[in-house]
Amino acid sequence: MKRDSDERGCGFLDNQTLLDYAAGNLEARRADLVREHSRTCSSCEALMVEQAAMWVELDCWVPEPVSDGFNRALWQRITDSETAPWYRRLLESMRSGGWRPAVSLAAGVAFVAVGFVFDHSVERTASPVASAVASGWGMTAVEADQVESSLEDIQLLRLIE
Ligand SMILES: [Zn+2]
Repeated sequence: MKRDSDERGCGFLDNQTLLDYAAGNLEARRADLVREHSRTCSSCEALMVEQAAMWVELDCWVPEPVSDGFNRALWQRITDSETAPWYRRLLESMRSGGWRPAVSLAAGVAFVAVGFVFDHSVERTASPVASAVASGWGMTAVEADQVESSLEDIQLLRLIE
């Protein structure tokens, strides 16, 4: 029951099973089967010895101690980011991908604004727009209405000017 010569394992056990065994991820009954088999199968035994050696090495591996300079630089960055002005933090969060919610909110506001401009002359309490936005952008109808009334205020201010 030999497989290709360059593939490790013998066909009775696949490599993944052996790796799981070496990592201690097999349930007891399967682990017993693997142990039993490896006593009679030289290729599986060799692979298991290799894996066991690797795990021993990993267990012995101690990460290099981090230098004081690194810790100081890290804390400095954390402190800097906490005390940075809001626009710096916004910029940082946009750089790290946190801009998505901001973009959806902006798009939502724009949507409300467009809806408001078109609906304003027809109906003053244009809640179809508000509820459409509320369902589409995860806002409550009340929040959407607030956005709408704010935009109304802005328009009034423009008329005064
Ligand atoms: Zn085998």
